[in-house]
Amino acid sequence: MSEPTRGNAKRDRRGRSSAAEFLLTVAALLGAGALGLYAFAPEVLERDRPVAEPVAPRSIVRPAVVEKPEPAEAATEDRATAEPWFRVGGSLRPGQTMFAALSAGGVDPAAAQEAIRSLEGLVSFRRARPGDRYEVAIDETGAVKRFQYQTSSLKRFVAEEQGGKLVGRRIEIPVEKRVVGIGGRLRSSLYETLQRQGEDPGLAFLLVDAFAWDIDFYCDPREGDTFRMLVEQLVVEGRPLGYSQLLAAEYLGELVSVTGYRHEDQGGGVGYYDERGQNLQKTFLKSPLKYARVTSGFGRRVHPVLGFSHRHNGVDFAAPSGTPVWAAADGMVKRAGWIGACGRAIFLRHPTGHETQYCHLSRIAPGVKLGQRVAQKQVIGAVGSTGRSTGPHLHYGMKNRGRFVNPLTQNFPRGKPLPGEELEAFSADVVRYRARLAEISIGGSQSLASQAQ
Ligand SMILES: [Zn+2]
Repeated sequence: MSEPTRGNAKRDRRGRSSAAEFLLTVAALLGAGALGLYAFAPEVLERDRPVAEPVAPRSIVRPAVVEKPEPAEAATEDRATAEPWFRVGGSLRPGQTMFAALSAGGVDPAAAQEAIRSLEGLVSFRRARPGDRYEVAIDETGAVKRFQYQTSSLKRFVAEEQGGKLVGRRIEIPVEKRVVGIGGRLRSSLYETLQRQGEDPGLAFLLVDAFAWDIDFYCDPREGDTFRMLVEQLVVEGRPLGYSQLLAAEYLGELVSVTGYRHEDQGGGVGYYDERGQNLQKTFLKSPLKYARVTSGFGRRVHPVLGFSHRHNGVDFAAPSGTPVWAAADGMVKRAGWIGACGRAIFLRHPTGHETQYCHLSRIAPGVKLGQRVAQKQVIGAVGSTGRSTGPHLHYGMKNRGRFVNPLTQNFPRGKPLPGEELEAFSADVVRYRARLAEISIGGSQSLASQAQ
C-alpha cells in the first residue's frame, strides 16, 4: 500500500476526529434519521476506505477538495479521498421508498434507478424499512459510482462501478461479544428498576427466563431485593447492539434467593444450574404468568389475591387483561374453549399425572386445541375476565391424580443435574463467573442515598 498523500492524511485525521466520532455515535444511538446524519462507519469493514464524513441527507455535499479523478490503476485505498464525487446519504423516512429518498437527495432519476437495480437479487427494496441507511456517490456527469445500503437488521450491501457498470455484493458486518455486569436494588418491579438505572429493561426477561422455576417475578420481589447479572452483549463497530444471553445471575430477595450459571452441554443444550451443577429447571414453573412489562410497582403485595382452600380449587393471580399465560409444564391439551364458570379456559394434562387449569382467559393462543402438545413456557393464552369473574385475573388450578391440590405448595422435582463429564468445565466457569458477579456493584444503594438528600 502506498504512503498516503498529504491530502489523505488531512482527510483521515478529520474523519476520525473525536467530534465526528461523537456525532456518529449519537446518530447511531438516536437512529440516524433523527439527527439527519449519515452514520455509517465503513472503516471497520472496508479497510480499503477511510471513514466517510457525516453527510446531510437530501442535499448534495461537495467534497471540500475537488481533484481530478485518479487514473484507474490508483490504489483503491486512496480512491475515496481523491474522488470528486458528490455524496447523498441518510436514512429512509417512514413511507419513503429508496427511489424517493435518492430523488429527494437530488440524484437523477435514471441514476437512482440504476443504483437500485444494481442491488437487485440481493436486496428487496420493497421491504425497505424506515431507518434503513443508504449512501450514494455520484460523479460530475451524474453517474453512480458507489451505492451502499444497510438495513436496520444490520445487513449491508454495496454496489461499485466495475468496467462501466455497477456490481453489487453483500458485506458481512462483524459482531463482537463482550461480557458486562449489571446490578441493582429493587425499588419497584425488576423491569422498572432496570429502566430507571438506564439499562435495557428487556434484561428482566433474561433473568425471568432463567429463574422462572423458583421465582414468581410478579409476586415474590420485595423492595430492597438485589440482583447481579453477567450478560453477553453484542457489539457492532464499537456500539452495543443488544444483549444476547445471560451467563450468570444472582437474585437475593426477602422471600426467595437464587444463583444460577448458564451451561451449554456438548450436545448444544442450554440450561441454568446452581454452583454444584444442580438444575434450576423443574417440571412445573413457579407461576404460569409470563412476566410482561409491569408498571404497577410490586404488583400484588398479597400472594396470591385468593389462595387455595376447600372452597376455592386453585389460586387467583390478579394481572392486567392480556398478560400472557404460560403452560406451567409440558403437557397435552385436555380441554380448550368455554368451560362454564371458568369462562374461556384451558385444561392441560401432564406426564407427571397432574392436570393444570387456566380460567377466565381473554383469549386462547392459536394451536392450543384438544389433543395438541404444549411445552413448558409456551404462551397458551392471555389473562381476561371471562366466565364467573369480577375482574381480570388468572384462576390457576391443579389436580394431582384427580384431586385438587394447592399449586403453590407442591414440591416439584428438578431437571437432571449436570453429569460428571460436564461438571468439570462447568465448575471452572462457575469460579470465573462467581468472581465477576461479586465485582458488580449494586447501583440502588447509591441512588437511594442521593434521593434522600
Ligand atoms: Zn379462582
